[in-house]
Amino acid sequence: MPADYYEVLGVPRTASAEEIKRAYRRLAREHHPDANPESQDEARFKEVAQAYEVLSNPERRERYDRFGPEGVSGFAGDAQGFGGLGDLFDAFFGGGFGGAQRGTAGPPRGSDLEVVLDLDFESAVFGSQESVSVRTAVVCETCTGRGTAEGTEAVECYECGGSGQVRRVRQSILGQMVTASPCSRCGGTGEVIASPCASCRGEGRLIEQRSYRADIPAGVDNGSTLRLSGRGAVGPRGGPAGDLYVHIRVRPHERFTRDGHDLVCEVPLAFTQAALGTHLDFETLDGTENLVIPAGTQSGRVFKLRGRGVPHVNGRARGDLLARVRVETPTRLSRAEEDLVRQLAEERGETVAPADSGLFSKIRSAFK
Ligand code: ZN
Repeated sequence: MPADYYEVLGVPRTASAEEIKRAYRRLAREHHPDANPESQDEARFKEVAQAYEVLSNPERRERYDRFGPEGVSGFAGDAQGFGGLGDLFDAFFGGGFGGAQRGTAGPPRGSDLEVVLDLDFESAVFGSQESVSVRTAVVCETCTGRGTAEGTEAVECYECGGSGQVRRVRQSILGQMVTASPCSRCGGTGEVIASPCASCRGEGRLIEQRSYRADIPAGVDNGSTLRLSGRGAVGPRGGPAGDLYVHIRVRPHERFTRDGHDLVCEVPLAFTQAALGTHLDFETLDGTENLVIPAGTQSGRVFKLRGRGVPHVNGRARGDLLARVRVETPTRLSRAEEDLVRQLAEERGETVAPADSGLFSKIRSAFK
């Protein structure tokens, strides 16, 4: 015989809804095993919760007033299932209780998928449209994702009463814990299928290879990740699709490397060009530019072409192109070229190895 619910909450039979709620909150705080780990008073807490469940509902309260406990029997406050308490926990704790999430019934979301996309250097700098291929779960067309054989319907899962969730009360070292987990019988969908679709065996989805278009924004870099919303695997039985994550891998360029938003490249110059200056046709990613090398340019000098670098992914700005000069020393001189260079050295008073360099290379070899 259950205790009198008004007595349990310590309120008069004429108590207002607000008074009942206040009394419940006070008692719940006092006896809740999480709020008060010492209490261990599970039975008392359940009693309070059951009383509140009935008295907070005007219809049930009226039946209880008229018919007593029998009038409200069969509500979900049995010790094993402990099912109806979710609402109470929410009323008191505002939704988050002991890790339990209030789930909404329905098919679960499909998983997120990942794919690696190899991009040409220019495509990463200027953006492009690419196609990504992925093995994924797609909606079964035979049953349009419902998982049921033609002409049949899914029925409410009796294990979870269609909520898709099972609540359990456990004792832990921190006291009593209530956890909600997806119902194993219906997989969280709240429904069970008696006659499954022959194509998908009731899953509502099939595994297939699919291609999706990926719009690559200008300026992505090696290691960038794009999210294609809703392009992941669909959930079972018409559940929403997860997302597809596209990891970008950029193929190297034969001349350019990236330094953030700047493009870096090397400009080889003959030592005559470095000494005397020159004009070069210089290939950027945007086309040919005229690069003016002044006389006396040193190896390592950097010329900056503003705005010829990599666009910022979010915005209009672009980085710069940095062209670093490398003065090349000629390695094989013809007799005539050697004579000219020797003349130059003599003119400038610079000591050089004698024409027959046999002795010199012997000396040098001692330092190896
Ligand atoms: Zn199907």
